[in-house]
Amino acid sequence: MTGARRIVVKVGSSSLTTAAGGLDADRVDALVDVLAKHAGRADGEAERPVKEIVLVSSGAIAAGLAPLGLARRPRDLARQQAAASVGQGLLVARYTASFARYGRRVGQVLLTSDDTSRRAHYRNAYRTLEQLLAMGAVPVVNENDTVATEEIRFGDNDRLAALVAHLVRADLLVLLSDVDGLYDGDPTGPGTSRITEVTGPRDLEDVEIGSAGRAGVGTGGMVTKVEAARIATAAGVPVVL
Ligand code: GLU
Repeated sequence: MTGARRIVVKVGSSSLTTAAGGLDADRVDALVDVLAKHAGRADGEAERPVKEIVLVSSGAIAAGLAPLGLARRPRDLARQQAAASVGQGLLVARYTASFARYGRRVGQVLLTSDDTSRRAHYRNAYRTLEQLLAMGAVPVVNENDTVATEEIRFGDNDRLAALVAHLVRADLLVLLSDVDGLYDGDPTGPGTSRITEVTGPRDLEDVEIGSAGRAGVGTGGMVTKVEAARIATAAGVPVVL
């Protein structure tokens, strides 16, 4: 994993937003500080970077709530899509400004689950991502929330990240979370411990895996992360959670 060259990193809404709602510029910067050291090419650098980073970022809906006067994440798809439409621009603007501190460009890539299964779409997405990486830019991927219907939604970005890792033939998928790893029970409860390595589904047979983020702006939780890990590892991509 330390030798991985092409890495997909997924970050969720609750890691990017403030408790009051809205994007937390400091947290975006802190993430970008780490990624920019490895990702893409700075202005004037001729060589391909040692590591290629594809960032899968949630946060569009969360970022769109406050500007639209919404106190919490709406339940209905139409208002979620409206919030994502407002928030996605803000999110990418934030990443653009943050990566620019390192002279690095970002490229927005919005996908629906259709795009990872239909051959023509799949090939187009792959080509664009390859090209962005070749040009030293950091692809920032999210679900195309404005056009995704229930049938073609990824549902959560953990799954999207796993499919993107497969799509770009990544050497590694990193799923960031506000919990510091996988636990054998509720991490806040007594007597639970962190699982340091999972070599296959058997290792998880006795593990109780929780869902839903406490912060309330995300959708995933550990269930979707473990499911994403299953998808990625089945495609030969190791996962760090
Ligand atoms: N695509 C949604 C967003 O950016 C989030 C999906 C998820 O919560 O994983 O807000």
